Amino acid sequence: MKPLRVLSVTSEVFPIIKTGGLADVAGALPSALAQEGVSVVTMVPGYPAVLKALEQSDVVHHYPGFFGGTADLLSGRAGGLDLLVVSAPHLFERPGSPYLALNGRDWPDNARRFAALARVAADVGQGLTPGFVPDVIHSHDWQAGLVPVYLSLTGGPRPGTVVTIHNIAFQGIFPADLLFELGLPTSVFTVDGVEYYGQIGFLKAGLQLADRITTVSPTYAKEIQTPEGGMGLDGLLRARAGVVSGILNGIDDTVWNPAADTYLAQPYDRDSLDARAVNKKALQERLGLHPDPEALLFGVVSRLSEQKGLDLVLAGLSRLLGDRAQLALLGAGDKALEDSFQTARIVYPGRVGCFIGYDESLAHQIQGGSDALLVPSRFEPCGLTQLCALRYGSVPIVARVGGLSDTVIDANEMAVAAGVATGIQFGPVTLGAALDAFDRAKNLWRDKDAWRRLQVNGMGADVSWRRPAKKYAELYRSLRP
Ligand code: ADP
Repeated sequence: MKPLRVLSVTSEVFPIIKTGGLADVAGALPSALAQEGVSVVTMVPGYPAVLKALEQSDVVHHYPGFFGGTADLLSGRAGGLDLLVVSAPHLFERPGSPYLALNGRDWPDNARRFAALARVAADVGQGLTPGFVPDVIHSHDWQAGLVPVYLSLTGGPRPGTVVTIHNIAFQGIFPADLLFELGLPTSVFTVDGVEYYGQIGFLKAGLQLADRITTVSPTYAKEIQTPEGGMGLDGLLRARAGVVSGILNGIDDTVWNPAADTYLAQPYDRDSLDARAVNKKALQERLGLHPDPEALLFGVVSRLSEQKGLDLVLAGLSRLLGDRAQLALLGAGDKALEDSFQTARIVYPGRVGCFIGYDESLAHQIQGGSDALLVPSRFEPCGLTQLCALRYGSVPIVARVGGLSDTVIDANEMAVAAGVATGIQFGPVTLGAALDAFDRAKNLWRDKDAWRRLQVNGMGADVSWRRPAKKYAELYRSLRP
């Protein structure tokens, strides 16, 4: 069979530029898809980190006038990926994150920046680079939401389109008067196009016009079709239910492999779980926790935002820390939450350790050294840290929402009797239910054999990209004429 060519359009990609799970997904899918006969080229903005990472590159197209400046489309490789890079210095060559300026606010021209990304992707879809004409364009999140819109502006053959929702809370909504600046005609400013309650909705537009819509877990696919979970887009998603599906994320099992993880003091696998004690000790040392091997050590690796429910951990901290338990937290985001966890570290010396910031090595060390990983999210499209926790033998304690409920098997009586439990789920996402979950964890921890079974079961779960990649390949093939 002729290999299928996919252009994946994303605003971040691991290992080059990452703020969250989207980067992990965009970074890991191409090699998993290669096994399925799908070749992927990833299109990303030319942020400084991307330009620096490019091993060598060729200019494959020059845009003399492009969204208020000039741009080059570069083709090259970085981080093991085939890339098309939109090099537009006036849009992307700035310090700060892909979305936020150093003052923590959105870049004021985000609409223009990501419309530009989508515009180039659509041009490539229509033959701009004869050496690579994709069969399918896969847009990730609102930043690539306008791809199907730009593709719709001209007649003629076009690739199939898939839009994936990684988090429906981020929709890319901008004032209507930007329409012309974005190169969009009035004809698309309708309820069937980009119009969204009188404004321009990037994600909304993508969902309206894409051939297929996916999100990152089957449960989230259902949740976003309800008024509670759809954040204004549920009606549209219900109307398009026939093309909506949920495909679980995986994790890159070469990046996340406890048997060969160079960040860990002591690599281990399912048959050498006792060796985790060395990592626990190293983690306790790194975060200033008491070197207590018997303490139940809870870990958190997370953005600190309302979504992630970590205010419940703060509110329930004294109960969480009962029976000598400890907390190791890595996170960044909301300033009030950051400050509260820093304060908790002072209030509970040796019992709460935290690092506020972004740190890849500590993320691995928490997975490899904590006993349990807390993910009390109010909503969670898929969640990756619980998948890492399963692979690393840290028992996930999760809210029963979205992808968390699809990936963790609760240690209820039946699941324990059947020998399939991998963690603890709680719901609804309230302080009371979270406290019960902490208590359940402690009871299980006292029974060393039961705990070990949870770990072993979790480590046996297939959290790789193999199965999801097959599903994406099937989806792409269904779009090929
Ligand atoms: P989201 O994309 O909503 O932030 P996910 O669970 O899907 O949540 O993905 C989070 C990813 O980011 C995981 O790979 C996790 O290890 C990583 N991560 C989150 N916070 C940090 C941090 N402070 N330092 C390092 N890695 C982090």
